[in-house]
Amino acid sequence: MHVWKFGGTSVGKPERMQSIRKLITEDDTRKVVVLSALSGTTNALLSIGEALKVNDDIDANAKIDSLMEHYGQFVDELYKTTDGKAAGQKIIEAEFSFIRSLTGIKPFTLKQEKELVAEGELLSTQLFQAYLTEENVSSALLPALEFMRIDADNEPEIQYTEQKLADILPQHDDKQIIVTQGFICRNPRGEVDNLKRGGSDYTASLIGGAIRANEIQIWTDIDGMHNNDPRIVKNTFPVRELTFDEAAELAYFGAKILHPSTITPARMFGVPVRLKNTMEPKAPGTLISDHSAGTAQQQVFKAIAAKDGITALYIHSTRMLNAYGFLRRIFEIFEKYKTPVDMLATSEVSVSVTIDNTERIQEITDELNTFCTLEEPDYNQTIICIVGNFSADNQGVAVCVFNAMKDIPIRMISYGGTESNLSLLIHGQYKAQALNALNEGLFSA
Ligand code: ADP
Ligand code: ASP
Ligand code: MG
Repeated sequence: MHVWKFGGTSVGKPERMQSIRKLITEDDTRKVVVLSALSGTTNALLSIGEALKVNDDIDANAKIDSLMEHYGQFVDELYKTTDGKAAGQKIIEAEFSFIRSLTGIKPFTLKQEKELVAEGELLSTQLFQAYLTEENVSSALLPALEFMRIDADNEPEIQYTEQKLADILPQHDDKQIIVTQGFICRNPRGEVDNLKRGGSDYTASLIGGAIRANEIQIWTDIDGMHNNDPRIVKNTFPVRELTFDEAAELAYFGAKILHPSTITPARMFGVPVRLKNTMEPKAPGTLISDHSAGTAQQQVFKAIAAKDGITALYIHSTRMLNAYGFLRRIFEIFEKYKTPVDMLATSEVSVSVTIDNTERIQEITDELNTFCTLEEPDYNQTIICIVGNFSADNQGVAVCVFNAMKDIPIRMISYGGTESNLSLLIHGQYKAQALNALNEGLFSA
């Protein structure tokens, strides 16, 4: 069985939905099809939520009207038959009546916001399945809220998904296509929640791992993982093969094509992930698996990604040299406040770390101050992550990187943590310059 996920642009226009119907039926593997919301919908829903938070019902209702009109046109173009159009219209009426009911709830809290934002995926999957029905494609629609759940730390409970799907899927053995929502889930309180922005990729990988799929395919609007951020750098090119480790680093460190956690479940269960382009289905895309074969392996530099919004903390020991236990005490504090550390640099008496979640920074720095001295944190930093084959006997890696970066100030360096990653911390203002300079220095022949 396969899991195929289609992102917002891949379902965002009626003709796109029509072409993904062809894609999923031309290939005769049984598959779970995970859909995102139509492009623009999640942002539109969040902006309705913003209006409701400040009690601006007039603005909220105007935004709801305009979104509903968009869906009205979508339905009109998607379906050919009167019955199809009526089915589509019924779906949007039901979902928009729920959306409107949220305007009556005061105060509008995070719980309502999460119910509101879930509507995007609830709409896209129902509309798509009704379209499959109109086209006589036999399919089932599985509500993700019945088998996707996060725990109190917002971590998906893959065993729960595994058990639930082991019960639910056999009930649909006669169906070749199983449609479900990406992104949405329940939390331990049973409320509607989600896997954060871009989370449909993660849903696909969690399902793929849970059912031990033969392959997970992420269909988007570009031909696979490029060697650098195509939004910032010209002349990027697709990387045809990546290992799980390489892809995980790139996703975690900012390659937007994948939600940061996508690779984790796939790697855990050894399910290959293929990135494919909906607009150009014949293009090979990128295969992510536990090995990377042939010439790709010899290639030293493979790809670069950048993660913004990083904060650097500079921590000095107030005790003398050779103080052991210092690092443990520091990391216990980050653990206590559930704040992951991304980069780390140490000297005899000092440690510098980076974090991307500053929610608990006050508590962390207060506690660190009891046994360390801290410099002012640096905000608005960017981690540049360079992925490649950096095994210990591969000479000259650092020289190439530093030559390319010669005009850009570097605050921190991390090299040797794995054989596939070299990370640099720079001020965010230099991000575009750094990505372009590295592209020129590491990839131009
Ligand atoms: P979807 O809506 O299908 O989930 P996304 O917009 O989340 O699509 O991800 C695809 C986009 O990711 C591409 O259009 C591209 O602009 C961006 N992107 C950023 N870095 C990379 C990269 N290294 N390789 C490919 N795409 C990237
Ligand atoms: N619709 C959600 C978002 O826009 C999830 C996704 O697209 O993956 O973030
Ligand atoms: Mg995405």
